[in-house]
Parts: sequence; C-alpha cells; structure tokens
Amino acid sequence: MIICPYIKVHPKTRKTLDRHAPGIEYVYTGKDDYAYWETVNSRWGSGEDLIIVEQDIAITAQMIPSLVSCPRAWCTYAYPVMARYTTGPGTEIRIRALDPEALGCVKFSAAIQAILPFAAKTPWDRLDIAVRDHIATCGGQNVEPGQVLRPHCHGTVEHLHRLS
Ligand SMILES: [Zn+2]
Repeated sequence: MIICPYIKVHPKTRKTLDRHAPGIEYVYTGKDDYAYWETVNSRWGSGEDLIIVEQDIAITAQMIPSLVSCPRAWCTYAYPVMARYTTGPGTEIRIRALDPEALGCVKFSAAIQAILPFAAKTPWDRLDIAVRDHIATCGGQNVEPGQVLRPHCHGTVEHLHRLS
C-alpha cells in the first residue's frame, strides 16, 4: 500500500508518483492537525507493507521497487533538512543535515506493523519525531541504551522546495 498524505502536492511530486508509484492513494490531510496521524493510523496493520511518500518528495523509478523488495522492517530514503544545532544559550546555528529518519519516503513492513501499534495520536508537525522514537524503541518497551532500531537507509531522495 502506497499513500501520499497531502495538503498541496508539488507538481513534480505528482508527476513522479503517477509515473513510478502506480496505484498510489492521495489522501488529503488538511482537515486538522491530526489528519495525517489518522491517515496512517487507519491503514496501520492492514497486513501489507505501508509506504509513505510526502507531497514534496520526488522519487525515481528505482525507489518503490527497492523498498518493496527489501526484507527489512523500516526502510527510508534520506533527504536534507534544516536542523538547529546548539551547545548552549546563544550558540545556536542552523545546519543542513541529511535526515534518514523522516517520514518523507518511508516503508514500514507488514511484520513490524503486526507487532507494534502505530504511534500515539500526534499533530502533523511532530509526527515524524514521534514515529521515529516510537519505532526505534519498540513503543518504549525497549529501553536498553544502544538497543534502538534504526531505519535501513536506501539512499537519498530529492526534497523539493515548499509551495507557498
Ligand atoms: Zn531496506
């Protein structure tokens, strides 16, 4: 199952998804802050792998087949984001960082969905961090330092400029 949660789909995203992700379901998530969470939560545990491609991500032909054919539980494509970095008051800098744990282009296997409920209800702007922490720690049950799960990163994907 492949979904594109959206408020406004970038034209290049639409073009690449229509070409490289046949059968993708576009789901409008602009209703309220929790619509994105509800969209994923209602599809979680369906028995199929769940692939999410966000509205400003431009995939290539190889990416969906690569995710689908991989046996790993949690697979992503990384993309650059602006991150805050600070060592204390007055030291904040903003850096361009490659984020391999975001929701922009991700697969959750049927197996991991079967053993773990989706993350607790969270607004869209904190959902990526909530999901990352939830999956990484097996819903908080795995608390051993160094025992967290990390996604299998398949490479990088193009992250388009936001549409205003
Ligand atoms: Zn993988």
